[in-house]
Amino acid sequence: MAEAYKIIDHDYDVVVVGAGGAGLRATMGAAEQGLKTANITKVFPTRSHTVAAQGGIAASLGNMGPDHWTWHMYDTVKGSDWLGDQDAIEYLCREAPAAVYELEHAGVPFSRTNEGKIYQRPFGGMMQNMGEGPPAQRTCAAADRTGHAMLHALYQQSLKYDADFFIEYFALDLIMEGGECRGVMALCMEDGTIHRFRAQAVVLATGGYGRTYFSATSAHTCTGDGGGMVLRAGLALQDMEFVQFHPTGIYGAGVLITEGARGEGGYLTNSEGERFMERYAPSAKDLASRDVVSRSMAMEIREGRGVGKDKDHIYLHLDHIDPKILAERLPGITETGKVFAGVDLTRQPLPVVPTVHYNMGGIPTNYHGEVVTLKDGNPDTVVPGLFAVGEAACVSVHGANRLGSNSLIDLVVFGRAAGHRLGEVIDRAAKPRPLPKGSEEMALARLDRYRHAKGGSPTAEVRLDMQRTMQADCAVFRTEKTLAEGMTKIDEVYQRLGDIEVTDRSLIWNTDLIETLELDNMLPQAVVTMHSAANRKESRGAHMHEDYPERNDAEWMKHTITWFDQGKVRIDYRPVHDYTLTDDIAYIKPKARVY
Ligand SMILES: Cc1cc2nc3c(=O)[nH]c(=O)nc-3n(C[C@H](O)[C@H](O)[C@H](O)COP(=O)(O)OP(=O)(O)OC[C@H]3O[C@@H](n4cnc5c(N)ncnc54)[C@H](O)[C@@H]3O)c2cc1C
Repeated sequence: MAEAYKIIDHDYDVVVVGAGGAGLRATMGAAEQGLKTANITKVFPTRSHTVAAQGGIAASLGNMGPDHWTWHMYDTVKGSDWLGDQDAIEYLCREAPAAVYELEHAGVPFSRTNEGKIYQRPFGGMMQNMGEGPPAQRTCAAADRTGHAMLHALYQQSLKYDADFFIEYFALDLIMEGGECRGVMALCMEDGTIHRFRAQAVVLATGGYGRTYFSATSAHTCTGDGGGMVLRAGLALQDMEFVQFHPTGIYGAGVLITEGARGEGGYLTNSEGERFMERYAPSAKDLASRDVVSRSMAMEIREGRGVGKDKDHIYLHLDHIDPKILAERLPGITETGKVFAGVDLTRQPLPVVPTVHYNMGGIPTNYHGEVVTLKDGNPDTVVPGLFAVGEAACVSVHGANRLGSNSLIDLVVFGRAAGHRLGEVIDRAAKPRPLPKGSEEMALARLDRYRHAKGGSPTAEVRLDMQRTMQADCAVFRTEKTLAEGMTKIDEVYQRLGDIEVTDRSLIWNTDLIETLELDNMLPQAVVTMHSAANRKESRGAHMHEDYPERNDAEWMKHTITWFDQGKVRIDYRPVHDYTLTDDIAYIKPKARVY
C-alpha cells in the first residue's frame, strides 16, 4: 500500500499552505526575513477566493471624515459581541493604516477621492466616536473589485521574493511529532507525484469552510482543508458555531452583492415596500452589522412579508442611485445583477436572501499567528512549528460576528505579523532534524483508502446531504429542536464517509479523489460546528439561539474549543482576552449591542 508511492522530499525553513491574501502576505513576510520559503496551493494563486472580495478593506485613514484606530477597535469589539480577543483587535486596528499604505505602494489601484486620496465608503457597524456615530467612512475600495486588485498586486510582489511556488499541489496532512509540527505532505495534482516537505514551520492559510453549507457566497474551493488537517492532527478548532450569513446573496444563485451596495445608499424593502431596517436598527438602519440585518430579513420572511411568489426573499434597491455613480463605484455588481438575477439594477430591485459567507471560527492562534492549544491548564500554549492566518485562523479578532471589510485587513495584518514572528523564532543555522519514521504514513494511508474506495455513496451525494443538513438545522435561527435533530443527522452523514464510492483510481487530475479528500476535510468541521452550536446556550453575534435569546456573559463569554476523534466531539473552553496590548486604550467593557 503506502510503499507503492514514490516520495519526493523537500527541505524548507517555512512552508505556507495557501496563496490567498493571507498566504501570499505570509510568504512574502517569511521570504523577506531571509527564510527559505515554499508556498503550496491547490489553485493558481490569483484564483484563490480572495479574488472575489468586492467591498473593501477597513483602516482608519480618515480620508473622508474624522476617524481613529480606537474607534475602529471599539466597533470591532462591539461587532464581535465581546467574544473577540482585545489584545489582537488592538493590534489589528492599530496596524491597519500602515498595511493599507503598504498595499497602495505594492500597486493596488484603489479608487480615489477628488484630492487623489484613497476612496473610503461606509460599511456596516463602522462608526465614529466610539460607537456613538455618525457612520465612519473607513472601508478602502478599488471600485467593487478590491480583492481582485489586492490579490493580483500581492502575487506580483511575491514573485520578486525568493520563494518557491508549488502550484496545483494539494496539501494532504501535517507531519506531527510529539505535539510539534515538522512539515506537510502534498499531492501534485498534475502528475500524481507525492511530496514530503520538511520545514521548521508550516503556515496554514487555507481559507474558510463555507462549502459545508448548501448556499454560500464562497468559492467551491472553500473546503476548510487546513481545519481538517488540524483536527486529524489531534488539535482543536475554536468558535466553530459562529457562521456568518451575509444579508445580500442573490436569491437562488447565492452570488454576493457587496455590503458596499448599502454603503453607497442601497436599502432593503419587504413585500409592503417598507424599509423595515428602520424598525430593527433605528440608528444604523441598513448599515447595522451583518448578523442583525440577516436576522431582521429572516424575521420579515418568517412573518409573511417576504417578496416573490413564495414570499421567501427580500428586495435590495439601488434603482434610486445615479447610474453614473453605480457605473463608477459598483460596476461589478451591476453586471452580477444582470447575469445572475436577470435584473437591471438601475431600474429594478434585486432579489436577495441571507447567504453563508464567512467563518468566524477556525484554528486558534495568538496575534503573532502562532497556533495555540489548551495544555496543562494553559489555554495559550503555543504549538511549536505551526502557524495559521486568514479565514482559516481564529485569532480571534472577529469573535461572534465579523464586520464587513475586516477580513481583508485581517489577512494582510496577520500575514505580515506571522512573517515577523517566523523571523524571530526560526533558527536559520539549525541542522535539519530527521523526520520521524513513517512520517508519510497517515497522509498516504488516507489517500490510498479514498482512492480505492468502493462503497455505495458517491461523494457528491454525501456532500449534498451534509450541505442540506447544515442549511436546514444550523442556520440564521437555531433552536434546541433543530440543533438536536441536526446533531443526529450530521453524525449520520459523517458515518457515510465509511461508505464512500470513488470511481476514478488514477492520480492524474483525479477530481473525484480531490473532492473526496475535501469532503473528508469538511465533514468533521460540519460536525463540530453543529455540536458547538448545540452546546452554546445563549445568543451572541451570529449564533441566534431562540430558546436562549439573550447574551449571557456570566456563563458564556468564553471561546468554545473542540476536538474531533473518530466521529466523537470533545468540547472545552478558552477565556476571552479581556486586556489590551498597551495602555493607549483600556479594555472595552461589555454593553448591550444596539445599532
Ligand atoms: C464573495 C466574497 C466577497 C468578499 N468580500 C469581502 C470584502 O469586501 N471585504 C472583506 O474584508 N472580506 C470579504 N470577504 C471575505 C474575504 O474575502 C475572505 O475571508 C478572505 O479573502 C480569505 O482569504 P484567505 O487568504 O484566508 O483564503 P483564500 O483566499 O480562500 O485562499 C485559500 C488558499 O488556500 C489554498 N488551499 C486551500 N486548501 C488547500 C490544500 N489542501 N492544499 C493546498 N492549498 C490549499 C487555496 O489554493 C487558496 O490559495 C469576501 C468573501 C467572499 C466569499
